[in-house]
Amino acid sequence: MRFDSGWCDGALRCVSPHFNQRPLGEVSLLVIHNISLPAGCFGLPYIDQLFQGCLDTDADASFAPLQGLQVSAHFLIRRNGERVQYVSCDDRAWHAGLSRYGERDNCNDFSIGIELEGTDTEPYTDEQYQSLIELTQALLLEYPLLTTDRIVGHCDIAPIRKTDPGQSFAWERYLGKLKEYTEAMRS
Ligand SMILES: [Zn+2]
Repeated sequence: MRFDSGWCDGALRCVSPHFNQRPLGEVSLLVIHNISLPAGCFGLPYIDQLFQGCLDTDADASFAPLQGLQVSAHFLIRRNGERVQYVSCDDRAWHAGLSRYGERDNCNDFSIGIELEGTDTEPYTDEQYQSLIELTQALLLEYPLLTTDRIVGHCDIAPIRKTDPGQSFAWERYLGKLKEYTEAMRS
């Protein structure tokens, strides 16, 4: 997988207007999220529409609070493993909200956000793990400040507000594969 101006050739491009410049140009944190719209429903067009700012909030009663919300992520990984990219990794997407990592606030400034289509309780698919691992490997190569110990869940940087990616996400499976890969790269 290659990147051109922060756009990955291993993802479908679905451009979001919800982004701006990274104040320091730094990419040094990866944040894993989940999303489903409506909650628990998969394979529908509403996530793309939300991130593109064109969600019809009348389409489902649960969408009312999303009216006018300006959010995005860099990537979505659908249940079949398909990757979608909304914002260049060189730009700041709006996924983390009020957040803190170590001594630093506003994690959007220096992070990449990946959304997994899913919920906190439903197991993610094998295709999603495979796709996420491949994408993460490519990001680790492209952004040297990003390392396997700087990968967190949204729940870790916004613990009072957020629970995603939830107990359904197998961190040991994901990080174990990544560490195998980085060790193989070194030897
Ligand atoms: Zn999240």
